[in-house]
Amino acid sequence: MTENVVTADKITAHLQCPRQYEFEHERPVSPPRTSDDSIADLRLKTLRQSIITGLRKEVKSSDDRVSAAFDRFDQLWQPSQIPYLTDEQAWYDEAVVKRAIEQYLSNFGHEHAENLIATDTMLGYERDDIRYETTVDAVLKQENGYLAVRYVPNLNGVVKSWSDDNVQDFREGREFYPSQIGTLVRTSIAIRGLMNEHGLDPNCEFAYISLLDDSEPVYGSDEIYFEVGYRNLTVDYLDERKEVNDLVADRARAILDGETDPKAWQFSEITDNSCSYCAYQNACPEYLESELAFTDRSQSGSESNESPDQLPARQLPAEENR
Ligand code: SF4
Repeated sequence: MTENVVTADKITAHLQCPRQYEFEHERPVSPPRTSDDSIADLRLKTLRQSIITGLRKEVKSSDDRVSAAFDRFDQLWQPSQIPYLTDEQAWYDEAVVKRAIEQYLSNFGHEHAENLIATDTMLGYERDDIRYETTVDAVLKQENGYLAVRYVPNLNGVVKSWSDDNVQDFREGREFYPSQIGTLVRTSIAIRGLMNEHGLDPNCEFAYISLLDDSEPVYGSDEIYFEVGYRNLTVDYLDERKEVNDLVADRARAILDGETDPKAWQFSEITDNSCSYCAYQNACPEYLESELAFTDRSQSGSESNESPDQLPARQLPAEENR
């Protein structure tokens, strides 16, 4: 087996910014973390692990499945370790996550559990001396084939209302939407990984299940309203299969060849979009250089009595890339 392993996470990070990929995957740089980051991580970890426990449990009723998931939730959700500012916020988050677990496992999660093939597993395949891998939270048997799923808190950044030349536009530098393309990269690797295990005949599909979309308290009661979202990306992937697969192969080769200079890629789009949300700003030479250039431009503008309103405005990051 080849030693050249490239994961969907690595390719997605490289799409956002090759230097960010390097900090995240090649160098031991620990970015500064806010309490919001810690809370988001805990919510996702608790949600995923509790649901996986509920799915795996050998039980007959959905109530028993929910109960097993809640036992796991209680082990993981330790309020004293969570940096909440107020008790109300801690209570609300606990209630939201438990309600999401219950809602999913009581409804189509119970059916998913009865068709479960694997949980928290790696799918992969090998091409041209490179092994491609992605983790998925569950693999389910369905009529005529298999479905791999990932649980996410919401569907921000997942492909939606897509047109069939967006990947081409991205590859040729006309557009920049790395988050959405990253979800197609994961879809490609998951589906080809399923085919590697189960053959070409069955339908192999990949979907995101969003468990906390649009959550909000119901006014005047203890209830919390939210929707479980489901987005199957198989058709979006098949519409641009060749382009996505070529992009996966190109980026994997770039990663293995050590291509981490962001200036060699869509650098102006990276600075306009990815930099604002990047945790590695303080360690990044390109970011510090661009900040210095911006300061120099600002100072030379003041020296020439240019009003601040006339200075070049920095473009706000696109919401879709958050
Ligand atoms: S600060 Fe910008 S250029 Fe530097 S690693 Fe992050 S996204 Fe890339």
